[in-house]
Amino acid sequence: MTDRPLFSDALVHLGRGVQANGRPVNLPISQGSTMLFNSLAEFEAARDARHQHGTLYYGRYGTPASFELEAAMTALEGGAGCVSVSAGLTAVTLALMGAARSGDHLLVADNVYMPTRNFCDNVLARYGVEVTYFDSMQDISPLLQSNTSAVMFEAPGSGTFEVPDIRAISATARAHGALAIIDGTWATPIFCRPLSLGADVVVHSGSKYIGGHADSMIGFIVCNEATYPRMRQMALAFGDKPGSQDVFLSLRGLRTLEMRMKAAESSGLQVARWLAEQPQVLKVLHPAFPECPGHDTWKRDFEGSAGLFSIVVRDCSTDRLHAFVDALDLFGIGVSWGGFESLILPVRPLRTATRWDEAGHLVRLNIGFENPDSLCADLARALPLLD
Ligand SMILES: *Cc1c(COP(=O)(O)O)cnc(C)c1O
Repeated sequence: MTDRPLFSDALVHLGRGVQANGRPVNLPISQGSTMLFNSLAEFEAARDARHQHGTLYYGRYGTPASFELEAAMTALEGGAGCVSVSAGLTAVTLALMGAARSGDHLLVADNVYMPTRNFCDNVLARYGVEVTYFDSMQDISPLLQSNTSAVMFEAPGSGTFEVPDIRAISATARAHGALAIIDGTWATPIFCRPLSLGADVVVHSGSKYIGGHADSMIGFIVCNEATYPRMRQMALAFGDKPGSQDVFLSLRGLRTLEMRMKAAESSGLQVARWLAEQPQVLKVLHPAFPECPGHDTWKRDFEGSAGLFSIVVRDCSTDRLHAFVDALDLFGIGVSWGGFESLILPVRPLRTATRWDEAGHLVRLNIGFENPDSLCADLARALPLLD
């Protein structure tokens, strides 16, 4: 597969396995713990190769469908291998555990997904791994230490959407002998393929756009040649695996991923541009907007924008903020994103390496597949409640 795969073909055909005639279009759900062998010799061969992708040995090590899904994600990202895990957060935590040993130091971007920070502060710290948070828009060279084993960041940053320079961070990390691990959930491989920009590992929450229907939880660790064996070994040693129904739903989600991403991009931009004109909106934080920090990097390295962005609304009482959010009919209130439904949530960014001092409330929106004109009309009705 080239650097820019033909997603329209790949998404339809990858990961459906080779079967006999009279086969269903979709691979059936692979439900299985024990796998049976015709002879003890065949069992022993499978046991010896159980850490290898594709070896059917015991359900925890992989099933026909999970192997197909991992191969599809590997091809879409242009990687050497992928391990599927039970959630996006598991992909983050296992990738960090695969990268760091006790006594190591990690550089973690200040604007990562909050549970990633929680894992660093409350779990890794207990195992003797030191973490320094960094401003993802700055040169990391001065922060690298002799024991820095990985740099973890997100493109764009969670909640605030700054777009870091994946190439520069990855190159600096590599020159230092540290791994560049990137959370690529927002862009999906449709809009960005970080391994081709020099990253070593890309993690995804497949619970977002890949599943795409707010009904499954899964994560992926997609690796280059050098990191794949240790990441696979870490995930298998940990005993983690995705549920078989979630594997099925992810394979199904891939079939429409490109179309859904393009629809999310177009509706997202329409709503974001409309919001930018409203008197209650001080700022739109969206990588496709020229004011967004890292917009030029986004233009160079990404092929589109997802339907998730934030706005800063005029400072007001908490009561008014609640009144605005509660008055919306078409926007659900809840965490996560990337499903077919629009969502809204005020968010409070925690920053320790940088400062977040916007003079207003930060509100994150996931634009779903309702008619964008209806979404704007819904917002137009509710925004005056902030005044
Ligand atoms: C949601 C999210 C995760 C965690 O994924 P889950 O599947 O919910 O565990 C990780 N990273 C980012 C950027 C996310 O938005």
